[in-house]
Amino acid sequence: MKILVINSGSSSLKFQVIDSDSEQVLAKGLCERIGIDGSFTYRTLEGISLKESIAMENHTQAVHTLLDTLVDPQKGILENFQEIDVIGHRLVHGGEKFTGSVVITDEVIQAMTECNDLAPLHNPANLVGVDACRKLMPDTLMVGVFDTAFNQTMEPKAFLYGLPYRYYEKYKVRRYGFHGISHKYVSQRAAEFLGQDPRKVKTIVCHLGNGASISAVKYGKVIDNSMGFTPLEGLVMGTRCGDVDPGALEFLIKKENLDFPQIMAILNQESGVLGISKNFSSDFRELKDAEIKYNEKAALAREIFAYRVAKYVGSYAAAMNGVDNIVFTAGVGENDSDIRQEICEYLEFLGITIDEVKNREQGEAFRISDGISRVNVLVVRTNEELEIARETAAVAREVQKEGTLTS
Ligand code: ADP
Repeated sequence: MKILVINSGSSSLKFQVIDSDSEQVLAKGLCERIGIDGSFTYRTLEGISLKESIAMENHTQAVHTLLDTLVDPQKGILENFQEIDVIGHRLVHGGEKFTGSVVITDEVIQAMTECNDLAPLHNPANLVGVDACRKLMPDTLMVGVFDTAFNQTMEPKAFLYGLPYRYYEKYKVRRYGFHGISHKYVSQRAAEFLGQDPRKVKTIVCHLGNGASISAVKYGKVIDNSMGFTPLEGLVMGTRCGDVDPGALEFLIKKENLDFPQIMAILNQESGVLGISKNFSSDFRELKDAEIKYNEKAALAREIFAYRVAKYVGSYAAAMNGVDNIVFTAGVGENDSDIRQEICEYLEFLGITIDEVKNREQGEAFRISDGISRVNVLVVRTNEELEIARETAAVAREVQKEGTLTS
């Protein structure tokens, strides 16, 4: 099955064409600066590579651009659009309605639109991508894969805040958790790498990128995730603050005479390691370089980041009454061996010991714990697009079985 995977954001749209049988990426690309000027990057398995400025006024034009390229006689990989069997869309927030992947129908779009309040930055942008594909390929089956769905197995004791219960009843104010597509892929890939049955192990996944979250996956199901009602809760991130006492926010609002959009912009875009390092950088490579040159705030930002990760790992080990695997993933988790080392030093009480040579390796999946460590510590490269393709293929197969090709 050939699957077009779409990840549509407010001004960008990432795509991949994946053969679900071989799991090879036949082509991938990125439409950027949609609605501004337009830039298009594209690469194929066969080695064709291009980066062009192409005017893209809206997402429909972006989808047009990518489809035209995919069927182009010189650059393309398809004879025609009909070769795409199904389109899989990454959808950020499915609220409590979506606990798994679904065929995108008018009803699903309606239900997602009702979730827009919960994810005003992401859901409308996702839906614009869906709409653009529906316009240009109305007869192709489309599947929605939600970033919140894998976390929907959390129990009320994990997902409820200590707020009046009526706010959950009235507005569904609760913790949802994010990065579910990555947490699912990585926890399963780690078990596969170790030759384990994922339904029999307790795994903590540390997705440490610019956005960062940790999940506790017990016997294949998420029991907790560090992100909350929005992706702002939990770890200190690139530019997001993570856990903060709401009382401190009231204090700041008064002292600095801020309104709500202003404080939210500070918490989302000016905080995290960027804010702690006094605006030096949100990029962990730059912070590391600065730390080596004795930039104290850059060093402090990395220290706070690692300390918060270790605290969450410790609490999730308690929540699961033990842990078999700890897995690092995403930009920082996959590449920053110093941060991994620092985090693991806090975790020696769990019987974790790291092989410093292995920790400096690079690769798709590798173990960094040594032979005597009581917990397997791994690095696994996340692959959200492949997970979306797998989910999409599974839903498409169900549809084929039922013989109800709904689009
Ligand atoms: P997101 O998808 O949330 O934007 P990524 O998973 O792509 O984030 O991670 C981006 C982060 O990864 C950047 O902040 C960058 O600092 C970090 N990163 C990438 N490569 C390295 C590296 N070699 N060493 C340390 N950090 C790295």
